[in-house]
Amino acid sequence: MYTLGIDIGSTTSKCVLLENGEKLLASSVVAAGTGTNGPEEALAEVLGAARIDMDEIGCTIATGYGRKLFLKADEEISELSCHARGVHHIFPEVRTIIDIGGQDAKVLALNEAGRMTNFLMNDKCAAGTGRFLDVMAGILRLDINDLEVKAAEAAEAVRISSTCTVFAESEVISQLANGTGVAELTAGICQSVAVRTAALARRIGVRERVCMSGGVARNGGVRRAMEQELGTNILYSEQAQLMGALGAALYAYDRGLKLKASQK
Ligand code: ADP
Repeated sequence: MYTLGIDIGSTTSKCVLLENGEKLLASSVVAAGTGTNGPEEALAEVLGAARIDMDEIGCTIATGYGRKLFLKADEEISELSCHARGVHHIFPEVRTIIDIGGQDAKVLALNEAGRMTNFLMNDKCAAGTGRFLDVMAGILRLDINDLEVKAAEAAEAVRISSTCTVFAESEVISQLANGTGVAELTAGICQSVAVRTAALARRIGVRERVCMSGGVARNGGVRRAMEQELGTNILYSEQAQLMGALGAALYAYDRGLKLKASQK
């Protein structure tokens, strides 16, 4: 049975297509989130890659901020549950998930069975989210994917003292005007995101092992800064940004099986 998980975020749309709840047939990440054609594009991409029609899909589950607007799904499930499910599938040893997306950051505590037992979220402030990195990359005229390499070139990270994105923007501009290196500023920006979210993680209590998910986890500079902040190794999968969609596709498999059984 083919099942589909679609994670419609504030800034990106992600799809995962599974066969029998195990084999990853295709995945997609489209940099356009809810309220755009991003979800349709992400869907078309996976169906095209796997050469499968929508009517061959046994069950589709939508998750993420824009999940309620996606009418092709059989059901919708919260992104917290889907992230927990996706991460537990890849890393069953994880007890703390740090998920940083385009407009929010969440820390989830999981038990041994992979169930979420607690969570904390920052969705009030852009600092400590992907939005902060997007704004800073714009000022430094860097592609978001190049932040990691640039940060690694730094002799040391320049501390960004402003906690607000708007003030941090002016701070970075004046640092540039004073001749501070782009690499040092980039490292400082990655560190600033890590410091903010590590504080959120400490409030919930960090239990090992710790994993980072969401788009920002793709940045090794933020991951390394987080490791320093928390004093622990961070587990990371190349599919970090797909964890919500993966969890949704796994839930879709459970639902699909139940549906089949009830039709017998
Ligand atoms: P959402 O579900 O809220 O749309 P995602 O978890 O998909 O968010 O993450 C999107 C964010 O990830 C964007 O803000 C984007 O800038 C950031 N991002 C993507 N790739 C990278 C990267 N290589 N380095 C840093 N941030 C990245």
